[in-house]
Amino acid sequence: MAFPGRNAVRKQGGMAQDMVKYCPDDRWAWVEIDLDAVRENTRAFKSHLEPGVKMMCAVKADAYGHGAVKCTKAMHSAGADQFAVATVAEGVELRKAGITWPILMLGQPPIEAINTILEYDIMPSVYSTEFALAYGERAAALDKIGRYHLAIDTGMTRIGVLPEDVVEFRHMIDFHRGIRCAGTFTHFATADVVGDWDFRQQARRFTTAVQALKEAGYETGLVHCDNTPGTVLHPELHNDMCRVGIGLYGLHPADTTVKRIQLKPVMSVRARVTRAIYPAVGEGVGYGLTYRIPTPNIQIATVPIGYADGLARSLSNRMDVLVHGRRARQVGRICMDQFMFAVDTSKLGYRPADPVQEGDVVTVIGTDGDERITADETARLRDTINYEVTCNFGMRLQKVYV
Ligand SMILES: *Cc1c(COP(=O)(O)O)cnc(C)c1O
Repeated sequence: MAFPGRNAVRKQGGMAQDMVKYCPDDRWAWVEIDLDAVRENTRAFKSHLEPGVKMMCAVKADAYGHGAVKCTKAMHSAGADQFAVATVAEGVELRKAGITWPILMLGQPPIEAINTILEYDIMPSVYSTEFALAYGERAAALDKIGRYHLAIDTGMTRIGVLPEDVVEFRHMIDFHRGIRCAGTFTHFATADVVGDWDFRQQARRFTTAVQALKEAGYETGLVHCDNTPGTVLHPELHNDMCRVGIGLYGLHPADTTVKRIQLKPVMSVRARVTRAIYPAVGEGVGYGLTYRIPTPNIQIATVPIGYADGLARSLSNRMDVLVHGRRARQVGRICMDQFMFAVDTSKLGYRPADPVQEGDVVTVIGTDGDERITADETARLRDTINYEVTCNFGMRLQKVYV
């Protein structure tokens, strides 16, 4: 059979065939990132905020796998004010790409990284006096002011100063002329649960701690606590700024936000079939031969995406893909760089029964015709959350911005 070139794309059912135009030259697998959807989602959140409330976008982990530089620029063009990263390297990447807007690191970096964060103007989250004072010393030596956000642990038990210690904490570091508090924040463990007692307790502890800091005469900077579900479900806690993450990528953090904001998924994952054959009945597929051809007319197609691209091996024999606008079952174990799927050509009702060919476009996440596979569907099968699914697909596949 002739190997079809990129122009020799067959027109069949579904719409994904048109997406072959995004296929990179060197690999028949890619991630499509819809930057218009990023901008639309950003505006959707902005419209939930009172005028004057700032929006900080979480672009950590390469923007949840979507590409931090491009997403940051798209979000800013749609009205976002500040950006949040998880690591020093993520902040440096944005700065090296020419991004000048405020960047907060959602963690306290190692003391050894202080020179770098001062050089690149990355604000740390702070919760240890040792770090705060080292930061102040270095900043003062460079004739700079090290701006930071004070993290308060109101009940997530992850990072931050305990609420009862915040005033004393500020007392121990505020004498230093090299540092300045630009923000005070906490993070909720259960913001997606409506009417949750623990959430209310965290909110109460945060409000009380902020109040105590103000009464003691300390500058709090921007006060912020709401993440995506908090922003949507708890507008009374927007304060000076909201920190939105997953929603910007068009995904809901939980069912509770679905009816409250309209979002458009940003990421699609696609590939082209590299081979399609009709094995004999009884032949096996993949490592361990965990799938055997049960009947004649089963076609097995190979796709060049594997677990090293973020397609979890635990999905083996359990997930579907879309081809020609229809679902097909993935079969055999997912390999590091490839997987196979089965098409029962006796069921399709086309003649000649040859539904999949080399070069045809397969959708792993996204829409093809009337069918759609969401990151939520994949997450459910993997027993995880949509956040992890998109982060994982960001690992190795080339991103194409559309
Ligand atoms: C990741 C993160 C966010 C954003 O969370 P989403 O659920 O994606 O909106 C906000 N704040 C902190 C501290 C985070 O780590």
